[in-house]
Amino acid sequence: MDIKNGFVGTVGNTPLIRLNSFSDATGCEILGKAEFLNPGGSVKDRAALYIIEDAEAKGLLKPGGTVVEGTAGNTGIGLAHICNAKGYKCLIVIPDTQSQEKMDALRVLGAEVRPVPAVPYRDPNNYVKLSGRLAAETENAIWANQFDNLANRQAHYDTTGPEIWQQTDGTVDAWVAATGTGGTFAGVSLYLKEQNPQIKTVVADPMGSGLYSYIKTGEIKTSGSSVTEGIGNSRITANMESVPIDDAIQVDDPTCIQVIYQLLQRDGLFMGGSVGINVGAAVALAQQMGPGHTIVTVLCDSGTRYQSKLYNPAWLAEKGLTP
Ligand code: PMP
Repeated sequence: MDIKNGFVGTVGNTPLIRLNSFSDATGCEILGKAEFLNPGGSVKDRAALYIIEDAEAKGLLKPGGTVVEGTAGNTGIGLAHICNAKGYKCLIVIPDTQSQEKMDALRVLGAEVRPVPAVPYRDPNNYVKLSGRLAAETENAIWANQFDNLANRQAHYDTTGPEIWQQTDGTVDAWVAATGTGGTFAGVSLYLKEQNPQIKTVVADPMGSGLYSYIKTGEIKTSGSSVTEGIGNSRITANMESVPIDDAIQVDDPTCIQVIYQLLQRDGLFMGGSVGINVGAAVALAQQMGPGHTIVTVLCDSGTRYQSKLYNPAWLAEKGLTP
């Protein structure tokens, strides 16, 4: 018998997929951790589960309680699924720039959704800060606080990292991923470096994010913007502190779009925008390192969450992008 225990028992243990068209073109093994196959549809199911179970273990989240979070969408979707499975309420603050598909999913799941204008972190009305205040004002509620709650990266240190190590039989040479909270990048980097300090850990960064300049020069500088959602940051979160980072690669939107359409048309993989940044960076890294290396990245979520945007020719044309 091989039966998973409900939604919660189905999170994690995702396949590692050889991205054939990109591997064949570069002579490297470019492998994608298939996080879009988690039961809530994204990499964030792992963090959502760890955050909720950590709060339960500490006695902070009690029966009938409410989980409050500020999220670009995927964490909220993961939390909302788990709240339904465990009998909690869920309140989600989300920037109104995020895709309609993610907003709709949150409402279908029964979360209370508060869309707010997308303003920078320094603004007190920023979605993350507002979610913290709402959690403090709500009775019997916890703030998931994914950016600075270390249960987030612990999920990836305990599960994603070991899975990648085992699935590659320890042959992984490099790990590259974009960061939102940094939980995925940090947890996997910390675990892989402990197994083999020679493994290269590389941050993939979209335009408009400050991490590329921070890693290259020590200074957070931002310029431009990106059509991707859920990645990039203008501050170092607690999850990203004291994490071994060897390098950073910046990927622009035209490259991102080219990558996700190649994945769709040549590999049969229908992926979200952050996957374009991740795989675009993995290809650049393959070119830097030369043939014969094994490079692992993340397939964070699926294209179904962005059909009205990245897979809508009219929307793309408005942004000056072509598939
Ligand atoms: N890709 C997508 C689509 C996401 O929603 C997120 C999380 N915001 C990430 C990547 C980055 O994951 P993490 O928060 O673990 O850095």
